[in-house]
Amino acid sequence: MTQTEDKTSLSTEDTPLVPMEKVVALCKRRGFVYPNSEIYGGVSGIYDFGPLGVELRNNIRRFWWWSMVQLNDNVLGIEGSIITHPRVWEASGHVENFVDRLVDCKKCKRRFRVDHLPAENLEQNKCPVCGGELTEPRVFNLMMETYIGVVEGERMKTYLRGEACQNIYLDYDNVLKSSRIQIPFGICQIGKAFRNEVTPGNFLFRQREFEQWDLQFFVHPSEMQKWFDYWKEYRFEWYKSIINHKDRLRFRAHGPDELAHYAKQAFDIEYKSIIGWQEWEGIHWRQDWDLSRHSQYSGQDLSYTDPETKERYIPWIVETSGGVDRTFLNLLLDAYEEEPPSGKDKEGRTVLHLHPWLAPIKVAVLPLQKNKEELVTTAKDIHNRLKRLMVAQYDDVANIGRRYRRQDEIGTPFCVTVDFQTLEDQTVTVRERDGMTQIRLAIDELPGYLVEKVTWR
Ligand code: ATP
Repeated sequence: MTQTEDKTSLSTEDTPLVPMEKVVALCKRRGFVYPNSEIYGGVSGIYDFGPLGVELRNNIRRFWWWSMVQLNDNVLGIEGSIITHPRVWEASGHVENFVDRLVDCKKCKRRFRVDHLPAENLEQNKCPVCGGELTEPRVFNLMMETYIGVVEGERMKTYLRGEACQNIYLDYDNVLKSSRIQIPFGICQIGKAFRNEVTPGNFLFRQREFEQWDLQFFVHPSEMQKWFDYWKEYRFEWYKSIINHKDRLRFRAHGPDELAHYAKQAFDIEYKSIIGWQEWEGIHWRQDWDLSRHSQYSGQDLSYTDPETKERYIPWIVETSGGVDRTFLNLLLDAYEEEPPSGKDKEGRTVLHLHPWLAPIKVAVLPLQKNKEELVTTAKDIHNRLKRLMVAQYDDVANIGRRYRRQDEIGTPFCVTVDFQTLEDQTVTVRERDGMTQIRLAIDELPGYLVEKVTWR
């Protein structure tokens, strides 16, 4: 990616993969993620986001939007609804084909998706965990049903969207007519999707309610390969720019048996974590499938006429489709580190090496002591100035070392300490999270210094 300089600071050496439980525990303890409806026992595969989680999510979303919509003159954004006309899901093939095939182990009762079983277990009908016999596959549709209307008998059955991108095809013609854009161009969207996943799990990795981001890029068929290659690289570099362990990112080409009948090629961008190499985002060659199907099912002509050549055709589509929640999870798994005691920190610490652009809190302002009024007043003044520019926190509870560690654990890239020298020369200590290095800076220079460090550009 050309627009984002790589600013992450950790080495890419193969440090141990972080156990999922560590991240789950941190998320609950520090207010990133809570199980949904926990007081009623929870709902499998559904989560709520706490005060820090919502800040991190917003930053992730905004960074995606900035780099996809704001930086690309030929890309526009929309926000479609979760509920659509039910015919949409017939046209898309979801009513008929959006299914998972599932087998159960007769011995240990574990449940597996057939497409996730290793080939040998499938052939031998053998459980990959205990070796027990597997049941015949059963088929489940993943779409969540709902009803529009109140009068029994007149209510219309429809679905919560199983993938967010359908709205883009539905609004394609409106976007084309209401903006002065021409092919090649793209439409982006971030939005919730719902799937009755048969095997939800691995925390945020596979949920029943989650959020997707999509780019659908409309091209002339002769330019399909060029744009496919372009967006494939662009998206890869985007992910690379926000992780520490660059060697845990790779492409996986879909095999011939995985490709849709219209797709010449497809790639997953995968990340390696404690659950192995897993899809983070899909780059898909969709050809004219979606607009042709919606033309056919709606009776509306969705073809495009080239304003210069007058050629009429159904545009082909390059799709890049990823998830806010998987990004959230992968970033935490990538950033989490338990550092042993060292010369710099005698007690050791848990630290989230989140990219400063994405960290939920950008700066914490800490008076050295809370019983010295002048220190507290000055720190509160600085906090009031900074919070207008970025998410800033004031903290005066416990000794300074503990306060640093509290901020390290939630990924705050900078701590500003107001001490006795501040009262003499109006300078403060700025401590950086990863290296724990400290510099002295004039209070007036603080806003500019921090904005430069925490704002993407
Ligand atoms: P999988 O094979 O893992 O089920 P998929 O190929 O069905 O995923 P897509 O339909 O291509 O996934 O969805 C695009 C993106 O949406 C995925 O790359 C992932 O980031 C995200 N995503 C899909 N399903 C889920 C889910 N159940 N929970 C969280 N994120 C999801």
